This record gives sequence, C-alpha cells and structure tokens, in this order.
Amino acid sequence: MTARIILNKTRKKRLEAGHPWIYGNEVERIEGEAVPGSVVEVVDHRGKFLASAYINPASKMIGRVVSYRPLERMDKRFFAERFRTCLEVRERFTDARYCRLVYGEADFLPGLTVDRFGDVLVIQIVTLGMDAVRNEIVEALVEVFAPRTVYERSDVGVRALEGLEERKGLLYGKEPEETVVIRENGLELEVDVIGGQKTGYFFDQRENRASIEPLMTGWGKRSGIELRDLTGEDGVTRRVPVNANGKEVTFPYWDGATVLECFSHTGSFTMHACKYGAKKVTCLDISEHAIETAKRNAARNGFEDRVEFVVANAFDYLREQVHGLEERAARAAAGENGGKIDTSKPLSGGGRTWDVVILDPPAFAKHKGAVAGALRGYKDINLHGMKLVNEGGFLVTASCSYYVRPDAFLDVIHAAAADAGKLLRLVEYRGAGKDHPQLLGVEEGNYLKFAIFEVRSM
Ligand code: SAH
Repeated sequence: MTARIILNKTRKKRLEAGHPWIYGNEVERIEGEAVPGSVVEVVDHRGKFLASAYINPASKMIGRVVSYRPLERMDKRFFAERFRTCLEVRERFTDARYCRLVYGEADFLPGLTVDRFGDVLVIQIVTLGMDAVRNEIVEALVEVFAPRTVYERSDVGVRALEGLEERKGLLYGKEPEETVVIRENGLELEVDVIGGQKTGYFFDQRENRASIEPLMTGWGKRSGIELRDLTGEDGVTRRVPVNANGKEVTFPYWDGATVLECFSHTGSFTMHACKYGAKKVTCLDISEHAIETAKRNAARNGFEDRVEFVVANAFDYLREQVHGLEERAARAAAGENGGKIDTSKPLSGGGRTWDVVILDPPAFAKHKGAVAGALRGYKDINLHGMKLVNEGGFLVTASCSYYVRPDAFLDVIHAAAADAGKLLRLVEYRGAGKDHPQLLGVEEGNYLKFAIFEVRSM
C-alpha cells in the first residue's frame, strides 16, 4: 500500500493554492512505509486526499507534489506524457528546438530541469525523488525527443540538501561535441555543454535580449549625421547619410548605438546588439573562458569588427570609467571658471561613456542572509553604470537573485539614481521568457527581473 503523509490542521493551505512544497513541520504523521524518494499520498488532517508527492524524510522539504490525482509511481509513461505537454507549450510560444523544455515545479516536475540545445539535451536533477527515477526520465526523454545526447549537469551544491552528491556526465548517446550551436532570435550562438556555467546557456533572457532592438539605432543625429538626398555624377539621386561637413558617411552602422555589456558570459546581449545595428560594443566578463566563447560567437555571426572584448572585474571597470569621467569634468569646470588646470598629472584611464549600458550579473544573493550585501552590489554597479550612459541613453539592468524581490530591486536602482543625480524613466519591465512558465502562487519562480530605463540628468 502507498504510504500516506497526513498534514496537520494548523498549516497554511499552500498546497490547496497550487504550491507544490510540503515542509516537515506541516506534517502530522506518516503512515505506512515511505521509501525515501518514492511517491506517497498526501491527505489533510481529516484524511481528505490532496495530492501525490514524492517524499524525502531527510530533507526539510519533506515532499513535493507531482500530481493532484492518485499516482503509484513516476514511470516512463508518466514522464513521457509530461514531456509531451512541456513540448506543446514550447512549440506554441518559442523555437522549441532551443529552449528550456522542462522547468521544474512550473512544469509539474519539481526537481527536474531540461534544456534543449538541438539534438543535445542537458538535464539537471536536484531532488532525491527525481534522482531515484533517473532511468525512467532518460528513457522518456529519448522516446519523446529522440535526442543524440542526454548529458547531466547536476553539479550543483543544492543537491546536498537532499543528501545527494554532485553529478555530471553522459547519460545517453554520444558525448556532446565541443561546440554545440543553437539559434536564438536569428543568431547562431555557441554553447559549452560540458564546461559552461549551469547547463551552458541562459535561455531565460531570450525575449529580453530581443527587447533591446529599439535601443540600438537612431543615434546618428547626435553625431551630426543626417540623411540627405545627394545626386551623384550619374545624375541619380540617392538618400544617404551625410556628416556635418556635408560628406557622405559610408560606415553602415553610422546610426547605431555604442554599447557596454558587463557580465556578458558568452556575449548573448552583445550579439543581439550587433544584430540590431549597434555601432560598437564593449563586451566584458571576468571569465576568460566565457569571453573566448563570446569571441567565437562574434566571428560566427560576422560581428568581429564591431566588438571589443574585455576580461575584467565589472565592479572595477565601471568604477574606473566613472573616475575618469569625473576627473575630466573637474578639469573642464576648472577651465571654465578661469581656474588653473593642473596638467602636471596625466589623466588616469577611463572616462568613456556609452549610449546603452547593459548589466546582467550573476545572482548576488543565493540565500536570504545575503540580501543586504547583494543590494549593495546592485546599487554599486547600477550607480556607476547609469553614470556612464550618455544623456538620454539607456540602462538595461537585470537581477536573477530570487531573494532580492522586484520592489527591492527597483528601490535600489531608484536610490542609485538619486545618488547619481539621474532621472530614470522605465521603458520596459520584464521577467523570464515563456519557456520558464510561472505558477501563480509559487513566488520562487518569479526570480528574474529585467528593466530598461532611459537615463537623464537632473
Ligand atoms: N548576460 C549573460 C549571462 C550572465 S551570467 C547571458 O545573457 O548569457 C553572469 C556572468 O557574470 C558570468 O559569465 C560570470 O563569469 C560573470 N561575472 C561574475 N562576476 C563578475 C565580475 N565581478 N565582473 C565581471 N563579470 C563577472
């Protein structure tokens, strides 16, 4: 007989509201022999059936709901059916060949993530309940998606909470090639499935990357370039860009933005910026490995000429640029006031500005206790980042720390703006893409914050 978890009377009715987690302190008692990792019945204190969940008595989160109907076990058929539903959703909303196919709780498969890079599936298992049926998962994936490779990237610390060791390696088919190439918004991007961060690529920002398109052109006027009708020697009149001296401008991206992308990883925002017409992009990450991939991505898409790569700590780089800017401003002010300009000291580096600054850092807060420090980090990069935006340009800023809630994130950016003497206008506010569905009532799924601000001085 299936074992039963009997929930106590005093708990919050979270489960009834669609939240799939059951904590140990919500349990009145367990009846029957509950094998760790197996599926059990969950009933309320009156014995009313609520759901089927897999159980892990060793974890603080003792159960996770996998069905609102009786279910004996999660077998291959169960997974195949779920995977088909996952696929339907992706096919409706995105390019299902390159996407997050399975997103844990939000796809009613808590503890399991599957990313699809064409023929290569990368899976991550973080709970005992899912780990116990890893063979069934792989068999169902093979049945539904017929992949060439199923590779595991469960090399994450959270598994320890479930009493599991980290795991990584081939589960099915051929070893993944060194270069797996995906398509996103019409770009080709290289993904390192084995050595890359997380599963190799961050699909959650796909739609957000596309949303920067309107920011990338319309800047030529500021440098005095205008479209004018010029009649050539052949007597043909063409509309061409002309600079302040009346000379034709031949650089095709004359109307494009200058862009700084910090925390670029493999340069996905940079590639989008170039595709949408940016004039010049500075692509910065602290990881040499990530920048090497970004370089190959630029070459692959024909953008080498427009991208400058920097391996550096973004905190330092941003601060250095601001320092240079302020130094210059101080000198200029001294000059205007007829004061003596101290030219004995050379200007330090930095002082560059851009039309668009993009900041997409890693999660600064990985647990609740880290929020205060994380907020300081977000304030620091956003404060400096917005100071480097040309007047009327844009700050594109994101945070993927769940523990930093959306209002706190916006508050910290607002505080940074006040310190910087900037007025920010919100152009766009977004979350994760449609292949990262969000279950209403499961706040944990609402982790990604992405905003575009127009930046003006006060
Ligand atoms: N924007 C990327 C994802 C960024 S993930 C995308 O859309 O794919 C965060 C990145 O920040 C990682 O590549 C990591 O190497 C980098 N990083 C972490 N700390 C950093 C720091 N102090 N300075 C610069 N880059 C950093």
